[in-house]
Amino acid sequence: VSQLGVADLEAWVRRCAELVGARAEELTALDAAIGDADHGANMRRGLTAVVEVLDTGTFSSADALLKRVGMTLVSKVGGASGPLYGTFFMRMGASQQDVQSLDACRLAEAVEAGVAGIVARGRAAAGEKTMLDAWYPALEALREHPEDLGTAVCAAAQAAERGRDATESMVATKGRASYLAERSVGHIDPGAASTALILQALAETVAT
Ligand code: ADP
Ligand code: MG
Ligand code: MG
Repeated sequence: VSQLGVADLEAWVRRCAELVGARAEELTALDAAIGDADHGANMRRGLTAVVEVLDTGTFSSADALLKRVGMTLVSKVGGASGPLYGTFFMRMGASQQDVQSLDACRLAEAVEAGVAGIVARGRAAAGEKTMLDAWYPALEALREHPEDLGTAVCAAAQAAERGRDATESMVATKGRASYLAERSVGHIDPGAASTALILQALAETVAT
């Protein structure tokens, strides 16, 4: 697809649920090392609830769909990641009111708004070993390829994986992992790992 319509956005979110569901144990293992061992379970619970919502409703716009996804994540995920990802999807939707489909340029705008929502909510900056360390490189990659959606999302997925891997050497200064301070070094941040999966799901959705 060259533009993400409402059905494509829905397919993306469903693919997120599949990928996160399949990798939930891995995400929880990462969280066991530097947090409280629930990130995979949190994400799976939230995205399972999101799929149930998608199964029962129809959505007339990107905005309506993304807002509903975000609100469901906020209400179903108790951990830090629920409000953060929830805000991401709600802001992403709110940035695209009355838009029927997103090209590469609009997608970059939407992700920028979503990431700003994560920052507004969590007050973290780049380099603090959070999901933002995967989101920022992904956003940069999207901005570098406004000409083609497929190129943009592939580059973003790869950038998110590099960002995820780069969290290994960082000291956590936000969230639960910050309780470990220097001892958080040597472990990948679980939220950065789930963000990489969300972008992988996007790349796979656009490729099909
Ligand atoms: P909890 O820490 O409440 O158990 P999760 O385990 O589901 O919640 O999510 C933890 C992830 O949330 C971390 O790996 C990190 O990526 C992300 N996170 C935590 N605090 C922040 C923050 N202030 N800003 C951005 N991301 C954060
Ligand atoms: Mg946790
Ligand atoms: Mg928790």
